[in-house]
Amino acid sequence: MIIAVTGGKGGVGKSMVATSLAVELGKKTKTMLIDADAECPNDHLLLNVKRKKYKDIKQMIPKWNRSKCTKCGKCALVCKQNAIVFVKNRYPAFVKDVCIGCGACMVSCPNNAIGKSKKIIGSVYTGRNYKILLVSGELKLGELASGEVVAELRKNSQKIDTKKKHDFVLIDSAAGIGCPVIASITGTDFVIAVTEPTPSALHDMKRVLYLADHFKIDSGIVINKCNIDKKFCSKIEDFAKKKKIPILGKIPYRKDFIKSTVSMKPVSKINKKYSKIFNNIIEKIHDM
Ligand code: SF4
Ligand code: SF4
Repeated sequence: MIIAVTGGKGGVGKSMVATSLAVELGKKTKTMLIDADAECPNDHLLLNVKRKKYKDIKQMIPKWNRSKCTKCGKCALVCKQNAIVFVKNRYPAFVKDVCIGCGACMVSCPNNAIGKSKKIIGSVYTGRNYKILLVSGELKLGELASGEVVAELRKNSQKIDTKKKHDFVLIDSAAGIGCPVIASITGTDFVIAVTEPTPSALHDMKRVLYLADHFKIDSGIVINKCNIDKKFCSKIEDFAKKKKIPILGKIPYRKDFIKSTVSMKPVSKINKKYSKIFNNIIEKIHDM
């Protein structure tokens, strides 16, 4: 079973929920956790995993052959990323960092003066702790294509799990509803939308649930920090009831979660009582 943990708004506790669920699943089953928050991966910190590089992720970029270039400027005109700077009677200048490898410049060149090269845009790392195999993706500093990094991360995690020996794969997604999140939830069996009782978190969670519905993936809601505003928590529950989306669990806001982050230990290792909350979430998904 492949489960994506997402939620829309940043800072609602997606990584805490993903790592805590992975720890509980890892006690009984073979579990792989994919950290797909490529711009800011942190599951290895929360689980105190020493990561090793598995491979670099490369992206195609254009390479100019000046002997064929007639300085017409057509390549710069079609580049929506403004990665090609053209000044009349000069060869085009290439800003490698903002190129997303779409290939439009190559197609537009009338003289076949643009060939292919590659650049590293990120890396895949692996590591283990708490009987979990962690596969983590990281976007290279200054690069933009986090969606591509997540898509390659997903492909590589399948290669790492060639014998399909993992019963559960959990994917900890980035915030938002953009390319990295779409690449995270594609092909999953279930989406957990983590939220908190604030208007912005509810607004962003609605967008994520809309996305899951668009891809016809079943979903459920986890309300984190539910005790910070009980009235607003009820508002989220009313929304869930109206939309017939199950509330999988409610997690209180306690100092134990800060201790967990600071000590790089799962919260259930700080206080065993939290195991029950995460096991209940797993059971509810299993029963659906
Ligand atoms: S590959 Fe696409 S983004 Fe990169 S320079 Fe060419 S047109 Fe611009
Ligand atoms: S489109 Fe081709 S020929 Fe024209 S400036 Fe670009 S590389 Fe040179």
